[in-house]
Amino acid sequence: MQFWQQSAGSVLAPNTINLPTRSRFKHSSMKYCSACASTVTRKIPDGDDKDRWVCQSCGVIHYQNPKIVVGCVPERDGKILLCKRAIEPRSGFWTLPAGFMELGESIAEGAARETLEEACAEVEIGRLFASVDAIHAGQLHLFFTAKLMSDFAAGHETLDAALFDVADIPWDDLAFATNRYALEKYVEDAGQDNGIHVHVIRKRRPA
Ligand code: ZN
Repeated sequence: MQFWQQSAGSVLAPNTINLPTRSRFKHSSMKYCSACASTVTRKIPDGDDKDRWVCQSCGVIHYQNPKIVVGCVPERDGKILLCKRAIEPRSGFWTLPAGFMELGESIAEGAARETLEEACAEVEIGRLFASVDAIHAGQLHLFFTAKLMSDFAAGHETLDAALFDVADIPWDDLAFATNRYALEKYVEDAGQDNGIHVHVIRKRRPA
């Protein structure tokens, strides 16, 4: 089994990857240096080929890199646990339990922690099955299969948590395109290990 999985709209084998269209990504703004509180400016540091936020006083280069979002598809008896978001962005829409990875944890531990925080649920994390580059957001989203092992309830960032039959997944009310892709592949896999599905989203668009 190859580690990547071909699918429509995905970046496929490494030798087919096009050069990134970096100019489409808007860098987050920064005013002050976190090391010395002086103002920062945008410039290409010596020996680099990309412009960065650089402190005009102490010279520190503030590199900005993608953030990693980890989540899972908790399943029990053929039903999938989803959370209705209580916070922006996309408050009131449904999502898989997922969130930003913390320092000091593995991606699997992060996915389990997010599920506990958002759905008050314990899960047994399975295998990594979907990787979605959300280039417009500067994020990489990773999704695991998971077994739901406990009761569940709405966590503090969640309005509601509920189990859905596959036929009842609220596709029109999903919060994020990353979630949609992961859920589509999860349903298509139907419990089979088809490797890791890889997908790239470059532009912001509705889920
Ligand atoms: Zn500084």
